[in-house]
Amino acid sequence: MLPMVDLQRQYLDLKAEVDEAIGQVLKEARFILGPNVARLEEEIAAYLGSSSAIGVASGTDALLLALRACGVGEGDEVITTPFTFIATAEVIALLGAVPVFADIAPDTFNIDPDRIEEKVTARTKAIIPVHLFGLPADMDGILGIAGRHGLAVVEDCAQAFGAEYKGKKVGTFGNYGCFSFFPSKNLACYGDGGIVVTGNEDSAGTIRLLRNHGSRKRYYHEELGYNSRLDEIQAAVLRVKLKRIDEFNAARRKNADLYRKYIRNASVALPSETADGRHVYHQFTVLSKKRDRIAAALNENEIASAVYYPVPLHLQEVFAHLGYRPGDFPNSERCAAEAISLPMFPELTEEEIRRVCDVINHVS
Ligand SMILES: *Cc1c(COP(=O)(O)O)cnc(C)c1O
Repeated sequence: MLPMVDLQRQYLDLKAEVDEAIGQVLKEARFILGPNVARLEEEIAAYLGSSSAIGVASGTDALLLALRACGVGEGDEVITTPFTFIATAEVIALLGAVPVFADIAPDTFNIDPDRIEEKVTARTKAIIPVHLFGLPADMDGILGIAGRHGLAVVEDCAQAFGAEYKGKKVGTFGNYGCFSFFPSKNLACYGDGGIVVTGNEDSAGTIRLLRNHGSRKRYYHEELGYNSRLDEIQAAVLRVKLKRIDEFNAARRKNADLYRKYIRNASVALPSETADGRHVYHQFTVLSKKRDRIAAALNENEIASAVYYPVPLHLQEVFAHLGYRPGDFPNSERCAAEAISLPMFPELTEEEIRRVCDVINHVS
């Protein structure tokens, strides 16, 4: 089976360096908040062009801690996209706030700034844009609205490490940028991990406090926090991979070009790029009314595919109490019905891409 992402191929490529890095951590026997986390934080802040980065336990926690640091709590509203992974809206609700959805643009899979402003109320505290599938959201539009209404912006960059908007890395536009290092992401570790990026020293201090039980000095606690630290083994692995991230993202872009070159099926709409954004193709996602037939044909030919995401968040059972109905967000609902993501990882070969496209081109 050709998988969506082949983690073994990448490991074999990096094996000598990764094994050495992990072995070093085991030898030094410092596992929590040691030198690798501190160095990774500096290296990622420098790579992204931000002043601070704080390693945390997952991308979900990165979002949760960032919203907490924005003061989001009971009764507040946070505006986000319904076409994303559950974590984006889950963290809003976990803090007692209300997720308020605004539809995506028809062609980018990302939140449409023109749909955001009509959702702003006196209780709105923040906006969470998601750079879905690796394509930067319309940050000028979003920051404009946030500025006019005094709202915080927390970027969900879980799928977009290294993506750029107007030549600047995503994660550095909002008050906080939140990344995930889940094994399938563009920059990934061998377990759970995440990082929060911020350009504000006080904000960085707050995230550091929250990730470690509200404590600055051991056994002295200033506020209620979390056990949410990135561990040393994951940080050591990430430091090896960070050196190669530009190469990995360039390979993803090259693979996307090959998909564009070889897909010849009139029912398939290829993913858009934008003038301001540099896509890093966490996923290569197309739209087709024949989506289910394409998925079946790929499966018959031993090729994996995936539907991200089959149910938009406003129609999820967990959010039924919010009172949304089918038809509320037509662009998100259409994407949920027609989107299919194809195998995408840096080590994918041209031969494999041709094989995928050949199957798709024969679906009528
Ligand atoms: C993966 C992902 C998350 C959550 O990251 P975890 O590290 O799995 O907690 C959040 N938002 C989006 C858009 C994601 O793809």
